[in-house]
Parts: sequence; structure tokens; C-alpha cells
Amino acid sequence: MQNAKLIIYYEARNDILGNVKEYGLQPLLQMGKYLAEVCATVGELAEVNEECRNCPYFKYCASGCRAVALTLTGDKMGVDLSKCLFFKKGYYEKVVRTMGDFRNNTPINV
Ligand code: SF4
Repeated sequence: MQNAKLIIYYEARNDILGNVKEYGLQPLLQMGKYLAEVCATVGELAEVNEECRNCPYFKYCASGCRAVALTLTGDKMGVDLSKCLFFKKGYYEKVVRTMGDFRNNTPINV
């Protein structure tokens, strides 16, 4: 289902990255078009995504994964709902507590 959403997204934009059978995966992944599609800086995300910019977990999450955001919201600069679930529903704190004596380099400070 999620792959179907992505295919529809790219077909609607007439933006096919290439035929993997014809070119192989590596050249297609290295093409600028692909990198331009999947890469966004934290600064760009903070600029365009108000929810992430104002989120107390932004410095840990950095808006999550662009592919997940695109798949689940239809917006590649949108929130990554899987990360929202992890951070906002207390899983991050649970993981930190579970780690016990392990050093936490990202202490909870929200
Ligand atoms: S938890 Fe959600 S809203 Fe907060 S920064 Fe991550 S993706 Fe954005």
C-alpha cells in the first residue's frame, strides 16, 4: 500500500527516477535527481515545517526520515509520523530508562 502511494506520487509528477533493470541500482541512486529528492537539511526542514520547528524533540529527531514523511503524509517536507509516535508517546524516555547505566549522549531535556 505504501509503495503504491509512492508510485502514484512519482507518476503524478511524471518524475520517474529510472529503470533499475536497464541502468542498475547504483547509478540511479547516485544521480543528482535522486539525491535532490531524498535529501533535505535540518535547516531547510526547520524553515518550512512549523510543527517540527516548534517540537521539543526536534533537536533529537531532526524531523525524522523524508521517505517515511512522504509515504505517510504525501509531503516530503512533512512530519515523520513514526518519529512523532516514538518521541511524543514516551518511547524515547522508555528507551533511555531501559538503557540504565549506559551513557546517554542525548539526555531528555524537553
Ligand atoms: S517528533 Fe514529529 S513533530 Fe517532532 S521533530 Fe520529530 S517528526 Fe517533527
